[in-house]
Amino acid sequence: MLAQQGILTEADGECVAVERPDGKSPIFIVCEHASRTLPEHFGDLGLSEEALSSHIAWDPGALAVARKMSASLDATLVHQRFSRLIYDCNRPPESPGAMPETSEIYTIPGNQHLRPADRQARTQSLYLPFHGRIETLLKDRVAKGRETVIVTVHSFTPVYNGKPRAVELGILHDDDRWMADRMLAAAAEAPLYRTERNQPYGPEDGVTHTLKLHGIANGLHNVMIEVRNDLIVDDVGQGVMADYLTGLIQNSLDA
Ligand SMILES: [Zn+2]
Repeated sequence: MLAQQGILTEADGECVAVERPDGKSPIFIVCEHASRTLPEHFGDLGLSEEALSSHIAWDPGALAVARKMSASLDATLVHQRFSRLIYDCNRPPESPGAMPETSEIYTIPGNQHLRPADRQARTQSLYLPFHGRIETLLKDRVAKGRETVIVTVHSFTPVYNGKPRAVELGILHDDDRWMADRMLAAAAEAPLYRTERNQPYGPEDGVTHTLKLHGIANGLHNVMIEVRNDLIVDDVGQGVMADYLTGLIQNSLDA
């Protein structure tokens, strides 16, 4: 069915991956920017290898950290298998940022002047199946009376538009601050990283789409984690960060 829309081929496979679908934890992890992979159909979008491996294409390190958290918590993890350059699954279809023409210092040639049909094909191939799968999994959990807290895992670049960022770990929330408040309190008890609320982004930047769509709309608690990506470049850094976040989450659930 996806192949008929001309975006994903059989070789590309499905856009959404689910790990530990039967995980026992109340924590339900989502990683929208897990992958830098472009579907075959798009070639290189006219971008250099440098741009295609940078944070504009994906959140470096985020999936590795999310996987380690999923393993230690026994938590379900849902991640997008394709780059946000084609569709940013943390943005609604009407947002210009869903299929960005520019990102930070880069212009994205393959995203200029997209026609409505192009936008619709990308939405149908990447956004709707991704969020549809999350919706199905969450409905099943609610039907089974399972407690659920949605945790989205992201990373951010240490230098943005030439400006260094001091914050190392951001705990982000929209109207529902329940989980964020607990995690920030736990972080204050055991400080390891410079941790801040709604930094380096906040709801005013449009980054809480997934939280609102699946968490707030369904009365499920939710939080977004942003990790500075220079702290999670290798297995050791990813492990230390994942252990720390797992600890904050466990303390928050016990609080
Ligand atoms: Zn992200």
